[in-house]
Amino acid sequence: MRPVHVYNTLTRRKELLRPVNPPVVGVYTCGPTVYDYAHVGNLRAYVFADTLRRVLETAGYQVRHVMNITDVGHLMSDADEGEDKMLAGARRERKTPLEIADHYTRAFFEHAQALNIRRPTVVCRATEHIPAMIQMVRTLLERGYAYEIGDGVYFDVSRFAEYGRLSGLDLEAQEAGARVGVNPEKRHPADFALWRKADPQHLMQWDSPWGRGYPGWHIECSAMSMQYLGDRIDIHTGGADHIPVHHENEIAQSDAVAGHRVVQVWMHNEFLLVDGGRMGKSLGNAYTLDDLRQRGFHPLAFRYFCLNAHYRTKLNFTWEALEAAARALDRLWEAVYQLASCHRPGGRPPAELEEAFGEAVRDDLGLPRALALVWQVVRDEPVPAPVALDLLSRWDEVLGLGLDEAAAGRLGPVADPIPAEVLSMVEERRVARAARDWERADAIRQRLGDMGYTVEDGPEGPRVRRLRAIDAGQ
Ligand code: AMP
Ligand code: ZN
Repeated sequence: MRPVHVYNTLTRRKELLRPVNPPVVGVYTCGPTVYDYAHVGNLRAYVFADTLRRVLETAGYQVRHVMNITDVGHLMSDADEGEDKMLAGARRERKTPLEIADHYTRAFFEHAQALNIRRPTVVCRATEHIPAMIQMVRTLLERGYAYEIGDGVYFDVSRFAEYGRLSGLDLEAQEAGARVGVNPEKRHPADFALWRKADPQHLMQWDSPWGRGYPGWHIECSAMSMQYLGDRIDIHTGGADHIPVHHENEIAQSDAVAGHRVVQVWMHNEFLLVDGGRMGKSLGNAYTLDDLRQRGFHPLAFRYFCLNAHYRTKLNFTWEALEAAARALDRLWEAVYQLASCHRPGGRPPAELEEAFGEAVRDDLGLPRALALVWQVVRDEPVPAPVALDLLSRWDEVLGLGLDEAAAGRLGPVADPIPAEVLSMVEERRVARAARDWERADAIRQRLGDMGYTVEDGPEGPRVRRLRAIDAGQ
C-alpha cells in the first residue's frame, strides 16, 4: 500500500491515513435524501466520495464503501424542524413515501452511473434498519445520554463533553443566542431528536418502547455506519453543510454508545455554488443531471468540471464554465482516440510521470494537479503514443473520465454521428470551394461553427468534427 494523506476536518490538518484493518479501509458516505432528484451540488459530493474510493483502491487498499439512503426522518431543516422531506415529496406528487423513495433512489443511481460513480459496496435504506436505530436510542437512554419528553427522545448534548468540536461550535454562545420557538421541554437548544412520536395520521411510523413514531435523521447514519463498519470507522464523508449539525450529532451518538472515538477521519467536500450563490430548489437554480443533458452536455463533462477543482474549494457552477470543461473533455477524448490509432512501437513510461500523478492524488486528492499531468502527456508528447495511451488508461482508474471508451471510439466527437443536415452543409461548402466561391464557403463554415461543428480541409477532402462534449443520450 502506498501512503495516502487526507485532510481531517476534526483535527484540521492533513494526516497520513492509518486504517484500523489494512488493507481494508472502511468508508461511510452520507447518502441522498430521496424526496426529489439530486441536484448537481449533491452530485459533487458523490463524485468526491467516488474519487476518494478510486484513489484508495489504486493505492492498494480494499475499500468497503457504505452509503445510506435517507428515506425517512430528514426534516425540512437539518435541525429538527419542519415537515419530513419524504412526506413533503409524497404530498407534492400524490404518491406514497415508498413510491417516492423508490423512484428517486433509482434516478439517483442512474445519474451516479452516468457520472462513472462506482456503486458502494453496501447501500442501506434507513427504513430497513429501524430496529438497529431503536436499539441505539435505548442504549443512549440507559447510559444517561438521552431523555424522553412529550414529543420524543432527545440527545442531551451537555452530557457529551466533545460536542461542538468538529465544527468549533460554542455551546454556551448557542444557548445564549437560542431562537425563540424551540421546544421548551428540551434541556438545551442544541439537544436533538433521536426518536419522534408520530401523530396517528403520520404516514411513516413504527412501534418503539416510546410509542409509535420514527427515527431522527442523525441516528440513522450512526446506526447504519456502525452496523456495517463496526465501532472504528476509518473515513466518513459528506458535504460541508453537514459539519455543524448532522455530523456533530453523529459523533455524539456513536461515540457515546461505543465509549471511544468511532470515526477516525472526517472528510467534507465544499459547496458547489450557482452564479456565486446558493443552489436552491426555490431559487430555480438547482440543476439536475437531466437539465445538463437537455442542454446537450455529456454527464462526464460535469465529472471533469468537478475534478478540475480541489474538493475543499468552493466551486462556482456557470454554463460557461461547464462548457469549458466539456470542450476540454472533448479534446481529451479526441486525443486518446488519436493515440489509439497510432501504431508506432512504445516503451516504458518515465517513472517520474507515474510518480508525480500518484503523489498528486494521494496528497489529499490533488486532482487538479493530476489533470495538469494528463494534459502534459497529451500536449507535450513526452512519451510515444502506445505508452501515453497505457498511462492515461491507468490514470483513468482514478479519473473515471471514460478514456478507454474514448480510445475505442465509443465516446467523444468520433462517436457522435454527424447529422445529415451538417453533412450536406459540408458538401455544399466543398462545392462552393471547388467553384472558388470563398464567401459562400466561409459563410457555411461560420454556420457550422454556430452549430458546434468544425471543418478541416485535408488532402482527403473536408473532415467535420463536433466541438463539444455533447449528446446526452449515451
Ligand atoms: P441531501 O440529499 O440533502 O442529504 O444531500 C446529499 C449530499 O449533498 C450531502 O453530502 C450534502 O452535504 C451535499 N450537498 C448538498 N448541497 C450541496 C452543494 N451545493 N454542493 C456540494 N455538496 C452539497
Ligand atoms: Zn448522514
